Amino acid sequence: MKKGRQLVWLSEELGIEEAILAEGQADKAELLERLRQEVFRCQKCRLYKTKRNYVFGAGNPYAEIMFVGEAPGGEEDKQGIPFVGRAGKLLTKLLEEIGYTREQVYIANVLKCRPPQNRDPRQDEIAACSPYLDSQIKIIQPKVLCALGRFAAVFLLGKQIPLSQMRMKVHETRYGAKLIVTYHPAAVLRNPRLMDSARRDFAMLKAVVEGEGIDSSRLP
Ligand code: SF4
Repeated sequence: MKKGRQLVWLSEELGIEEAILAEGQADKAELLERLRQEVFRCQKCRLYKTKRNYVFGAGNPYAEIMFVGEAPGGEEDKQGIPFVGRAGKLLTKLLEEIGYTREQVYIANVLKCRPPQNRDPRQDEIAACSPYLDSQIKIIQPKVLCALGRFAAVFLLGKQIPLSQMRMKVHETRYGAKLIVTYHPAAVLRNPRLMDSARRDFAMLKAVVEGEGIDSSRLP
């Protein structure tokens, strides 16, 4: 292996056994595109029959911050893009408040197809679909992952813990990225009293991305 290159192991099941990422990272976009094409042929769980569009993920393949949500909603299913509805607008607002744009980050969900009537993902669906997310994270190699809601947090942490106990902590992950957990923006829209807490989580996210120590007295 050439100096300055990284070996990234991807899922054999996806037909991408291994890939070499050049130092300039030019291949990240190409690897994501190969993975996207794989997802667009997927019939591994029942949801492919009821979805309108696969929602692979969107954003900067070289992002330092990667957001992970649960599953596409109605608007996302219609457009094939994650977080484009009201919840997506709130995510953009929270991001802009800490000085980042959507173009700087990457956004994906645990499930790539919408569950009917936005019901909760089922365990067999998560098991079938999560290798795609796993590969996305391994390709992008973000510095910080941010879980939006409990389903994403439980998947990324690999533990069943209440959301309240996962927030306001910096977790280590199997990907080497740090993990911050916050509410799903849809939950904040349903309960606007969560907005202040969400802002605290985003302030913590910014501090972790920028490599600052976490001083809770400086958080809003
Ligand atoms: S939810 Fe995931 S595993 Fe299920 S059909 Fe869609 S892409 Fe495939």
